[in-house]
Amino acid sequence: MRATSSLLIATHEECADHRPFPGHPERPQRLQAAIKGADGLGARLLPVTVNESDALRAILTAHDATLPERLRTACASGPQVFDSDDNPISEGTYRAALAAVAASIAAVGEVDARAATRVWIPVRPPGHHALRDRAMGFCFFNNAAIATEDLLKRGIGPVAVVDFDVHHGNATQQHFWNATTCSTSPSTDTPSIREPAREMRSGRAPAVALRGTTRWPLVPTMTRTAAQSPRGSRTSSRSSHPLRG
Ligand SMILES: [Zn+2]
Repeated sequence: MRATSSLLIATHEECADHRPFPGHPERPQRLQAAIKGADGLGARLLPVTVNESDALRAILTAHDATLPERLRTACASGPQVFDSDDNPISEGTYRAALAAVAASIAAVGEVDARAATRVWIPVRPPGHHALRDRAMGFCFFNNAAIATEDLLKRGIGPVAVVDFDVHHGNATQQHFWNATTCSTSPSTDTPSIREPAREMRSGRAPAVALRGTTRWPLVPTMTRTAAQSPRGSRTSSRSSHPLRG
């Protein structure tokens, strides 16, 4: 199939079914706003089918089998927190997390088939904090690591994972720590980013990780305008409480 240069969007409506408690920052509206931001770019929407078996096979490239099974069982029991207070779940969280993975591997398939050269995968729940055996930081399955593993399996690489968040993508880094065909580049502004830097200085990091992990500090952009400031301050200031997740 001939590749097109227009942007392809891979997402799924079931991503909206992950519903943490009211007021939680990682809410369905986040995804709606992100997708709306692509209006006017001439993007095409990729039809994505959620096949549980295919998604689980992909998940197992980055996670222990116990994680999806524990999440499925917990979601069947209704709203609660899962693994940590940062990870509230609803009945639809498991299906939403499967849909996020399905969209990710569908996007990889389009690239592999040369049907697309630029694919954006706006999905939720997010993934880059999800460890091999447990959820963390709003994340359940590491979509970025899973998509990267799929790319590498198909012979597409090397792969650079550029991580944009206020925290470093701890789980993605951990997953690819010894990889030679994938580099991760955390670009964050919170103290947690210093942790991998400390690991490198201490000599605990493998040499390949020293080559493959690069810190790209970003200029802080989370500012508070005078209108938003509770004190009506006219000066902008950095957020003192970056959201987790
Ligand atoms: Zn985060």
